[in-house]
Amino acid sequence: MTSFAFTPPPVPSVAIEGSVDRFPVRRIFCVGRNYADHAREMGGDPSREPPFFFTKPADTVVDSGVPIPYPALTANLHHEIELVIAIGRAGSGISVADAGQHIWGYGVGVDLTRRDLQDEAKAARRPWDWSKGFDRSAPCGALRAAARVNEAGKGRIWLAVNGETRQDGDLAQMIWTVPEIVAACSAAVRLEPGDLIFTGTPAGVGPLAVGDAVTCGIDGVGTLEFRVAAPE
Ligand code: MN
Repeated sequence: MTSFAFTPPPVPSVAIEGSVDRFPVRRIFCVGRNYADHAREMGGDPSREPPFFFTKPADTVVDSGVPIPYPALTANLHHEIELVIAIGRAGSGISVADAGQHIWGYGVGVDLTRRDLQDEAKAARRPWDWSKGFDRSAPCGALRAAARVNEAGKGRIWLAVNGETRQDGDLAQMIWTVPEIVAACSAAVRLEPGDLIFTGTPAGVGPLAVGDAVTCGIDGVGTLEFRVAAPE
């Protein structure tokens, strides 16, 4: 039995709808630009460039309802509502046809982004880590088992700030579908149970301020809410 120099950190996890059990998180993958209207608003070309991925540390997940302090080093914190795929079965080189067998369930997540740092990183051709993988940058609502989701391929995906709708799209607008994303991710790295994949955001991303109340959801998948608290 391994003896550690100090008590190992707790396993990050996400709530599961209707269960006291939690979903242990191993890795978080995120797809960039997966809705044509958002690709355009970010100055990109939505013409089906292959999906690209970035990551967040596993311990950036935060449960729905937990306040999120306004992070350091930014004056332009942005919200990005996203469908989250939860992986339940390991695999590499997974085919599009087999992808569904590797999916445990789905959730609603927000890919919080320090947009000013991301813009600087893009301009300087530097990594995105500091703009995407900061503390508590991945709020995620309770996961719903795949068997209870009617059809994750379509459904309204929306986000409101202080009751005002900011993002309002449909999963059917995704450039790369859920099975295609699982296949593409597993072509690069082996997926394992506990992996989460954030699948990109529709148009309407924008800034959050201290005190803002964020509510968001995806039809047939669930909801998520949090408040932006004062910086720590
Ligand atoms: Mn995103």
